[in-house]
Amino acid sequence: MDQTLAIIKPDAVGSGNAGKIIAHLENSGFSIKAIRLAVLNREQAGDFYSVHEGKPFYKGLVDFMTSGPVMPMVLEADAAVEKLRGVIGATDPAEAAEGTVRNLYAESKGRNAIHASDSDENAQVEIGFFFSPNEC
Ligand code: UDP
Ligand code: MG
Repeated sequence: MDQTLAIIKPDAVGSGNAGKIIAHLENSGFSIKAIRLAVLNREQAGDFYSVHEGKPFYKGLVDFMTSGPVMPMVLEADAAVEKLRGVIGATDPAEAAEGTVRNLYAESKGRNAIHASDSDENAQVEIGFFFSPNEC
């Protein structure tokens, strides 16, 4: 079984959609191996998204990801990374396929409800950002 990292973002936790999103992920065939509620500081959010440093949306992304609690979780399924990217949909909810998490719950391209790792290599790094090996 493969693992990936998802984060329910502050917009979705704040609007009370976290439970529905978790149910959506479980109903899509993922099992939750670890989960917590966390509040990120600017250094943590900046590190997590350091691949985007220098891009025009970077500061707004750090502002957003530190604006309230998030829910990082380790999800397990066959081909988990690719499968979760399909289940969450495109970055911009206007382009996200019908029935995807972002189609259902995202507000905008910035406030888009959920993060998902984009490769197996990044998934391992991102899981390590929030969880220790004995937790998942
Ligand atoms: N983002 C944004 N504006 C953009 C592109 C990205 O605010 O033009 C934010 C958005 O929250 C996105 C995150 O930065 O989820 C990371 O961007 P990425 O391109 O990695 O999208 P993702 O992998 O989340 O679909
Ligand atoms: Mg990404």
